[in-house]
Amino acid sequence: MNKLIINANVFNGTDNALIENVSILIEDNLIVKIGEIDQSVADQVIDAKGGTVMPGLIDAHVHITLSAPFNVIDTMTREEVAIRSARISEEMLMRGFTTVRDVAGNTLGLKKSIDNGYAKGPRILPSMAAVSQTSGHSDYRQNQAQERIGQHEDSPMMKLGAMKVADGRAEVLKAVREQLFMGASQIKIMAGGGASSTFDPLDTLQFTLDEMKAAVEVATDYGTYVAAHIHTADAMRRAAEAGVMSFEHATIMDDDIAKTIKDKGIWVIPSYFTSSLIAERKIPLPNEETYRKTERVGKAMLKSAELIKKYQIDNIAFGTDCVGETNVHATQLNELAAIEQTFDTITALRMVTSNCGRLFEMSTYQHPYLEGRLGQVVEGAYADLLIIDGNPFEGVASVADTSKQKVIMKDGVIYKNTL
Ligand SMILES: [Zn+2]
Repeated sequence: MNKLIINANVFNGTDNALIENVSILIEDNLIVKIGEIDQSVADQVIDAKGGTVMPGLIDAHVHITLSAPFNVIDTMTREEVAIRSARISEEMLMRGFTTVRDVAGNTLGLKKSIDNGYAKGPRILPSMAAVSQTSGHSDYRQNQAQERIGQHEDSPMMKLGAMKVADGRAEVLKAVREQLFMGASQIKIMAGGGASSTFDPLDTLQFTLDEMKAAVEVATDYGTYVAAHIHTADAMRRAAEAGVMSFEHATIMDDDIAKTIKDKGIWVIPSYFTSSLIAERKIPLPNEETYRKTERVGKAMLKSAELIKKYQIDNIAFGTDCVGETNVHATQLNELAAIEQTFDTITALRMVTSNCGRLFEMSTYQHPYLEGRLGQVVEGAYADLLIIDGNPFEGVASVADTSKQKVIMKDGVIYKNTL
């Protein structure tokens, strides 16, 4: 089945100018030609009416299955988590997100259901459980810690497969292999303290260098890479030395680590909007200390943005870290304006499209979607695209306003058409 989009201007995901007045030919699920194309070749013609065709949006840091505050997840059944996750993923797709990388959560069943057409949602690159040391950012046994440690019992959220604890080289090797066995396309570890958790101060270093290297070795042997939750410069130095290639949050940089990040080509996935939401206390956190930690990283993050500019770190990707109820996920598009304000419009547009696509290519053969390119409107790319009523280069507001997202297409299938 061929679809032809006519009268379109194209933002291809990389260039900072529109390709004006072209047609786009889609064969099944791939873009096969962009340019002047005769309408007779098409089974279906979509008139973009001068709107902008751009790649479907990509979020490189989501937690689709963490669909409630963590203490509430501990009380939920697997079915409840699954039903909520299905709704959250469908809403993500209907906000224009056609691909996401999930970085802590048991998303394999959801991913399969979406890929098989049993549920609606974005493509998912799963990390499966985030792995940390005992007392690290994934050790959610803090409720009844004494009893659980004594009985070697995981917390409910750990039993769901969202979080995993491993100590020492042997356990880390095994835990990482288990995630790959279950279908992880990249590995997520916790390499330092967290803002939202009650039990691990931000400045803690988590995982020894050798433990982190063990995770990187296994991921590398599977053709893929390790992404780390990480805040402080000292934690980043250790992770960089271990070979971690994706720094999630990376909020408290100094000049030295910013230079290392640039030199090693490490990816940075900041989340400007979600941390401001927490700082304004619109996302419930367990106690005052967690709010204080979040305020600290919120301020530091803006200074780190200046270092990203100073050292011209261009391996930066869009990630919201939306976690919790649907009302938190509903703010997902607000990150675009936050990036535009921190950097500029083209940076925001590249981060949410081609940059994420490039980041995901580090998964090589573990990448679940290898048939086409992601995050670009080019020949040979997946037909994952939006038709926007407006010109995104005039500001990301036209992309972030769902009423201006006239068409949402994923894998060549139209999920919304209000042209
Ligand atoms: Zn996260």
